[in-house]
Amino acid sequence: MKKVKSVSEIRRLITESKKAGKTIGFVPTMGGLHAGHISLLKRARELSEFVVASIFVNPVQFGPGEDFSEYPRDEDGDCRILEENGCDLVFLPDASEIFSDSRKIGISIDRLTDHLCGSSRPGHFEGVLLIVAKLFNIVAPEMAFFGQKDAQQAVIIQRMAAELDFPVKIVICPTVREEDGLAMSSRNLYLSRQDRISAAGMITGLREAFAAAGKGERDPSVLKALIEERMKASGFEPDYIEIVRAGSLDPVDRIEGTVLMAAAGYLSSTRLIDNIAFRAAGKRVEEVLLEFPDWSRHGK
Ligand code: AMP
Repeated sequence: MKKVKSVSEIRRLITESKKAGKTIGFVPTMGGLHAGHISLLKRARELSEFVVASIFVNPVQFGPGEDFSEYPRDEDGDCRILEENGCDLVFLPDASEIFSDSRKIGISIDRLTDHLCGSSRPGHFEGVLLIVAKLFNIVAPEMAFFGQKDAQQAVIIQRMAAELDFPVKIVICPTVREEDGLAMSSRNLYLSRQDRISAAGMITGLREAFAAAGKGERDPSVLKALIEERMKASGFEPDYIEIVRAGSLDPVDRIEGTVLMAAAGYLSSTRLIDNIAFRAAGKRVEEVLLEFPDWSRHGK
């Protein structure tokens, strides 16, 4: 596995791979790698011929008072995991390689950040889009792999790729979970032993609400109350609990079609998120991976 820190060097290696006719699959990460990231790498390995990962703790997506300086960093451990899981090249830029001090250009987002994490983390997704757009331009992948755990992020990135004509297919991979259901996250490392036990309460609440939908409940406020009750009983201070249309991320007033049921909450000072996406058609409900309507003018 090649380790590259400079934009010019990664561009040279990508050009070489493209000349050799290889399709490029890209897995952007912030490091602190776990089985969720590994599942994206494995999917990238299956679908593409040259697998590139990046590790970059992106300063511009963290707000004031968030955990940028504490974020888990273990370059050597992460590189071992990447190498063992079929990564061909890892891009590990320093912040100065990516951002200049005189930055004047950003990407704005309309409506898609009004709810969910967008409203509690102002500026976060603009920071995510900026780094993802830059990495797409540097790595020039045919496919890029993202986890459903960060569902709003996946929707917004897909929308950016479609509207700004990035020639990249966005592939969404299912959320990988611990045995008790807790979604794997680099931030789980912050949890105390007691909070780690409580942490499964969020997915338990989401699953209870999904089960209620399976029994015919179609009122989002009833489902949200179930989630809130379970989260609070487990020790969470909920940040938001919302049920939105999967494509537009607008809240729904009735459960119908494909919806994203998502929650965020604090255990001590650690903020965790999770979601279940499901399709309700008549009496049936079925858990689904996020699906994207074809927004592209070119039918990408
Ligand atoms: P991060 O390093 O947290 O920025 O995540 C990098 C990528 O891994 C993003 O596309 C995440 O959605 C994805 N990811 C994080 N946790 C999981 C998980 N438990 N299951 C699947 N994908 C995940």
